[in-house]
Amino acid sequence: MNSIIQGIASFQGSVFPGQRQMYQQLVRDGQHPSALIIACADSRVSPEHITQAGPGDLFVCRNAGNIVPPASDVVGGVSSAIEYAVVALGVRDIVICGHSDCGAMSGLMKPDLAKKMPSVAAWLRHAEAAERIVCEAYPEGMDPQERHRALALENVVVQLAHLRTHPSVAVGLAKGSLRLHGWFFEIESGALLAYDGTTGRFRPIAEADMPVAQSPLPGDRMRAA
Ligand SMILES: [Zn+2]
Repeated sequence: MNSIIQGIASFQGSVFPGQRQMYQQLVRDGQHPSALIIACADSRVSPEHITQAGPGDLFVCRNAGNIVPPASDVVGGVSSAIEYAVVALGVRDIVICGHSDCGAMSGLMKPDLAKKMPSVAAWLRHAEAAERIVCEAYPEGMDPQERHRALALENVVVQLAHLRTHPSVAVGLAKGSLRLHGWFFEIESGALLAYDGTTGRFRPIAEADMPVAQSPLPGDRMRAA
């Protein structure tokens, strides 16, 4: 706890005084984040740090396994964060950010997880489709590390599908006001891969080239001609 207390003292003593005006403006004008990022709660995966964003830039929701439960009658923190970001804040982009060495993905592969951590096991059921894909559609005898990485990547794609079941997201895509992104952060190299919805593959994010998982499809909404 000592390092946290020291951090607070440093923020209040030397950082905040130089940023006072920026913070006061953020209160005066309100927040206008450009994107919602749903990332893993893993302490090594900080969306603000990875993107070098400052206060007010990103609306962030973090949980074990960067999971988005499908829209249902059960109201939860993730679904309310999505709805608020889209409807109240008008974000234009939503990112699901997975990562390497993810403990939640390791948990998914452990059959006895429910005995030790029943809440985690119940939560990770929202990622079961990713685990089934890797078990049944990937080659048998894969290297365990490759398998773990494949699971984390497939999980990002599964959570993107869940995201589209949320009414506010579905409407944003139909109106052409929202884009969805799937990212994978490789902790050991600092690389950031993004899911390209047109090819179904992850590729590195290059300057001025941000792959999109799903672009808005406004088109003609009158489907029945
Ligand atoms: Zn994780």
